[in-house]
Amino acid sequence: MTLLLSIAHIATILVAIWVGVTVLRGNRLTLAGLAVATVLVATVMWSVISLVALKYPFTATSEHPVRVLFWGALFVGGVRSLVKVLENPTWSPRPLDVINLVAHPAVVGLIAAVPALHPVMVVADDDGTLSYAVGFWIHTAVLLGLSAKLLASVFDRHRHLARSSKKTRIAVFLAGALPSVGYVVSVFVWGPSGPSLAPVLLVMPVAMIGSAVVRDGLVDKVPLARGELFESLAGAVFVTDNWGRVIDANAAARDFALEIDGAKDFLGESLGRSCPRTAHILESEGDVDVPGLAEPRVVSVVTTLIRDGRGGTVGRCVILQDVTESVMQRRELERTRDALSREVEVSEELRAELGDQVIRDSATGLYNRRFLAEALPEIVQSCIAMGSPLSVVVVDIDDFKSVNDSLGHVVGDRVIEAVAEVLKRGAPGGHAVRYGGDEYLVLLPGSTAEQAHAVAEAMRDACAELRVETRDGPAQVTVSAGVATLIGEDIETGELLEVADLALYRAKQAGRNRTWSQADGGA
Ligand code: GH3
Ligand code: MG
Repeated sequence: MTLLLSIAHIATILVAIWVGVTVLRGNRLTLAGLAVATVLVATVMWSVISLVALKYPFTATSEHPVRVLFWGALFVGGVRSLVKVLENPTWSPRPLDVINLVAHPAVVGLIAAVPALHPVMVVADDDGTLSYAVGFWIHTAVLLGLSAKLLASVFDRHRHLARSSKKTRIAVFLAGALPSVGYVVSVFVWGPSGPSLAPVLLVMPVAMIGSAVVRDGLVDKVPLARGELFESLAGAVFVTDNWGRVIDANAAARDFALEIDGAKDFLGESLGRSCPRTAHILESEGDVDVPGLAEPRVVSVVTTLIRDGRGGTVGRCVILQDVTESVMQRRELERTRDALSREVEVSEELRAELGDQVIRDSATGLYNRRFLAEALPEIVQSCIAMGSPLSVVVVDIDDFKSVNDSLGHVVGDRVIEAVAEVLKRGAPGGHAVRYGGDEYLVLLPGSTAEQAHAVAEAMRDACAELRVETRDGPAQVTVSAGVATLIGEDIETGELLEVADLALYRAKQAGRNRTWSQADGGA
């Protein structure tokens, strides 16, 4: 029995040392690493003391029975920390967490360190037999309670641990269950002077924890891989705390700060003080022009808040990416597009203006003969298609030559403009055209002969009422009008104008200042 236990203790110690060396070889001090180290040290110490006790059983004066309790408490504390890290690799302990984890081993450790306090745990009666005292039973209750809680967490579906790898779950379960069984057997069957079974039962879970942690990369590979990735990122990554101090910066970030601010050792420093320009850029969001460089440079700034497990903000992570090329290309494209659209706008305005100018008489603003030539066939077509009449009124100023002669050409021009204005207003829905000299033409699509005659008469009246101011008092003119109307399939432009001209001629002949219609027998 003693031999078997000795072999088991030695095996446990060897396995624990092997796992410790493997896990911690990278010499990376992480929480998971610390937890594993705690578990392993506690295991080794617990096993060594138990091994020694096999050869030299505890007596009334030995201090080891109490010391062994400390390593047991430390072991449970270590496993609990490890479970926390397994559940959340980014876990950072709050002061309360630390107290919660450390309290039990600390109290038991204090008792173990001070011999005067040993009777709290173990007492020796007169014949030197060891028995447990009240402190021990409290320690046992705490130890078993914590172990039970640990075991429960493996099965708690709401906890992350329940979703981790099967191997990890088995390791944690065994780390909690086996020592507890060993502990209960040792305490209740063998008592304080008897052998300690608990550490013997640790060999398997410790090996499994070691392999789970190493294989899952929790201690070693994940942080290592993250570190490599972080360092080799092309983007500059700055991590700052709530006070703006730089907690971390990758190679690209260090190069950036060196180039922009000439700053070298700014880790741990306030970014605003050590790298003011960089800090200013980091405050922005989106595409930002980097100031103070010979060559223009644009970086995109993306900021993420870093939160702890309780959702509180503990810092910021800002990533800068060089986007100079794409932004410059985009800006160039935008400039070209703006210039082009301005050009298109101007040329369209010009074309509209010119197009309108081409079909208008510059003196009066009425349509000109060109318009007539282009638009009349279309108007004729639509009248034919709709079966509606098309009327035309030809208007000519009476004795205009004498206006020019007596009042001068300038007054003559103003008279031409004034009559044009009357015709423009008098032909809504129609088209008033300056036909040439003092002659005008009004197209009235859809107007019957009677309607057109009425329009012509109204225009003639309005012209007669015109007063054009001159130096010698207001000048007055009259006009004559000839009206022609065609309807049906056989509307023909030439004929229409001819008939209207003829009607005008008749009006002039009849004494001027009158309207003559084709229906009046003029055509
Ligand atoms: P009628 O009643 O027969 O039409 O007599 P009229 O004197 O008006 O004769 P006509 O229509 O033949 O005369 C047109 C005159 O209008 C001839 C020309 O000198 C003058 N004229 C033509 N265009 C303009 C112009 O733009 N400005 C001015 N001031 N006179 C013009
Ligand atoms: Mg005339």
